[in-house]
Amino acid sequence: MQKAKLALKANPAHKTVIQISETVSVGGADLLVVGGPCTVESQAQMTAVASRMALAPVQALRGGVYKPRTSPYDFQGLGLEGLKILAAVRAKSGLPVITEVMAISQIAEIAAYADVLQVGSRNMQNFDLLKALGNVNRPILLKRGLSATLEEFVMAAEYILSAGNPNVILCERGIRSFDSYTRNVLDLGAVVALKQITHLPVMVDPSHATGKRELVADLARGAIACGADGLIIECHPEPEQSVSDARQALSLEAMADLAASLAPIAAAVGRRLLQPAGMLPQLALV
Ligand code: PEP
Ligand code: MN
Repeated sequence: MQKAKLALKANPAHKTVIQISETVSVGGADLLVVGGPCTVESQAQMTAVASRMALAPVQALRGGVYKPRTSPYDFQGLGLEGLKILAAVRAKSGLPVITEVMAISQIAEIAAYADVLQVGSRNMQNFDLLKALGNVNRPILLKRGLSATLEEFVMAAEYILSAGNPNVILCERGIRSFDSYTRNVLDLGAVVALKQITHLPVMVDPSHATGKRELVADLARGAIACGADGLIIECHPEPEQSVSDARQALSLEAMADLAASLAPIAAAVGRRLLQPAGMLPQLALV
C-alpha cells in the first residue's frame, strides 16, 4: 500500500460514513443491506422486489441496467428504460437504488437516476472511468477485480478519491481460484484487512462470490461477523427465471429471512440492523 494516501486510515478510529440517501448510510453503526436482481427486467419484476424489500430489514435496492455479460449475445440490459424503472420503484418504496456504470458516456445519465453508482469487477482498473467518477456527486460502490490484489483494489479506490470524490465503498465479491465448485472464492480475510488498512466502508457480495444460492446466507452472516459494513445480494421474484445469474438468485422470501437473521450477529459485533420503515401507501396500489 506504499503509494496509497487518501484511502488509508490516519488512526485506528478513523472511518468514513457515507450517506446514500436522507436516511440510509454505510460505514457507521448501521449495516447496509442491499437486495435486488442481477438485472432489471421489467416494472412488474422491480415492483415485486421493492414491495417485499420495503417490508424487510433491507435498506437499498440493486439492479443492473447496463450489464457486463461474458457473451455479447446475452441480454445487455434495458439501459435508460431500466433507469426509469429504478427511479419509479425508488419513489414508491423510499429505498435508494444502486446500479452499475460501465462507461464514461453513461455517467451523467445514471447519476440522474441512481443513488449509488457501482463499478463492476471487470472495470476495477478502468482508470479513465475511475477518474471520471471522481467528479460525480454520488457515492461509488467499487467491486474488487476478478483477480485483483488488495493493493490493486485500494489503488483503484485511490483513483476515485484523488480525482475528488471522497465517497467510495469497497466491495469484496470473490476472487478467481482453482476450484470451480464455487463461482469464486469469498475472501473474508480481505474484509478484515481492508477494515484495518482503510477508513472506507467495506461491503460483501456473497452472491457473485459463490454463484450458488444455497451458500449465500451463511457467508452473508459470516461477512457481518467479520466486520463488513454491509451486504449486496441478488434476489428475484422468480429466481429460476432470472435473465442473468439465476443459479445464485435468492427468492424474495429467502432474502427477507436472511436480512432478518443478521440482527443478532450485528448486535454481537456492535452494529445495528435498521428495521423496515414499512411500505409506503402508494406502493400497495401498484
Ligand atoms: C453484478 O453486480 O451484477 C456484477 C456483474 O458484479 P461483478 O462485477 O462483481 O461481477
Ligand atoms: Mn449478477
